[in-house]
Amino acid sequence: MSITCDVAVLGGGTGGYVAAIRAAQLGKDVVIIEEDKLGGTCLHRGCIPSKSLLRSAEVYAEIKESESYGIETNGATLVFPKVQQRKTDIVEKLHQGVQYLMRKNKIKVLYGKGRVTGPSIFSPKSGGVAVELSDGEMETIIPTNLIIATGSRPRVLPGLEPDGIYILSSDEALVMEQLPKSMVIVGGGVIGVEWASMLNDFGVEVTIVEAANQLLPLEDEDIARELHNLFTRRGIKVITGGQVLADTYEVQNGHVSIGVKIGEQQQILEADQLLVSIGRQANVENIGIENTDVRTERGFIAVNSFMQTGEAHIYAIGDVIGGLQLAHVASHEGIAAVNHLAGETVHLYPSHLIPRCVYTRPEVASVGYTEKESRALGYDVKVGKFPFQAIGKSLVQGSKDGFVKVIADQNTNDILGVHMIGVHVTDLISEAALAQVLDATPWEVSQMIHPHPTLSEIMGEAMLAVDGKAIGL
Ligand code: FAD
Repeated sequence: MSITCDVAVLGGGTGGYVAAIRAAQLGKDVVIIEEDKLGGTCLHRGCIPSKSLLRSAEVYAEIKESESYGIETNGATLVFPKVQQRKTDIVEKLHQGVQYLMRKNKIKVLYGKGRVTGPSIFSPKSGGVAVELSDGEMETIIPTNLIIATGSRPRVLPGLEPDGIYILSSDEALVMEQLPKSMVIVGGGVIGVEWASMLNDFGVEVTIVEAANQLLPLEDEDIARELHNLFTRRGIKVITGGQVLADTYEVQNGHVSIGVKIGEQQQILEADQLLVSIGRQANVENIGIENTDVRTERGFIAVNSFMQTGEAHIYAIGDVIGGLQLAHVASHEGIAAVNHLAGETVHLYPSHLIPRCVYTRPEVASVGYTEKESRALGYDVKVGKFPFQAIGKSLVQGSKDGFVKVIADQNTNDILGVHMIGVHVTDLISEAALAQVLDATPWEVSQMIHPHPTLSEIMGEAMLAVDGKAIGL
């Protein structure tokens, strides 16, 4: 027996379940195959649990600083199991929401491990997707179209494989039952800096080691420098241009030690635990793509701009195709793939117009090109910067660090990039993204009336600053 359907989705993460809903909305008969839990990395091991822990850490830090708001407390007690429970409750509530959405949209969910049996054109004779169900039974799906959305997993540094005790990836770190006293974080990308910020707020002694010469290597240099300075001010030890030497790793008396090479120098770092956050690896193994013309490039499934693989009826989306490995990218790609297979209009954006957010304290957010990229692309750039300390609401908020930097083209006045560091900037970046998508100039954005007192006033001011016309500075 086999199940025929219009669309099968392999993987029920953010990309997969959103694609499934969109396909159902278009009247397609949809089957989604998930080997673990609907919601995938984002809901269970990524965005949501990490932001829940970050929020608890932020509240703890704010309570410790409450006197500056005129509130005296008798100290704050961190009860970490309750912090973890809050996270679990949030995840479970959202997990139930995703399951409800599957029922509401009449999407058939198969829990099990799926594998494409090929060859290329799906039919009962030539194969489809074989699913080893969680109860041990086998099921075969014969879809007209398949969307591969199998996501990614933490990249492992050879010699520093996670053991869940001394060496953790973000997967193990998210479920830790108690906080270590000290942690060395290997990798200063998005996940590394978020953990550094959170653990520091929880009172853990943190050292972060990044191989590139700045934290957040993909972000604008000025933003990275500011984050580095703010981290240092908070007591986080930041090492950039540092290579951890896996072969020097040792555990002694319940502590880890590891050598780091910085230029010609070498130093030994010691801590209770090591968190390795050096990126994510696509889940392309054991899904049967060798039975098809689906190809990989540098470990990711290769797709065209409509998310089609080497087989026109097989699409791939989300972390498994690489690029910006973000939840909103995965879901957007899922919708684009379904629109394409259904003959609907596909809205595509160049990847630099996708907003990127980092939930450190303070937050970082950006869209468009960095100043360095803009210059490398040959633009004649002009730059406007405006600090949060000149924005009334940021003083009210109790956080005056950071700034907004706008990069524009001297000749055409196009906005090339907007880079932010400061309180709640992840909630401000969408205006900048919209401005770029709608091709607005800095002056046009500045003419929109930003309500007072809000943090959004900084957008108007930073846009005016591009031509030296900021009002409040
Ligand atoms: P996934 O969410 O990984 O889902 C893939 C699913 O496929 C999984 O459920 C898996 O079980 C299933 N699967 C795999 N193989 C099979 C198979 N053979 N058969 C059946 N099922 C299979 N992004 C943001 O935008 N914002 C954030 O704040 C953010 N924070 C993050 C924090 C952390 C710590 C991490 C690790 C990631 C974070 N991300 C964030 C990234 C985000 O989680 C991913 O980009 C997103 O989950 C990708 O979605 P996806 O659908 O491509 O893959």
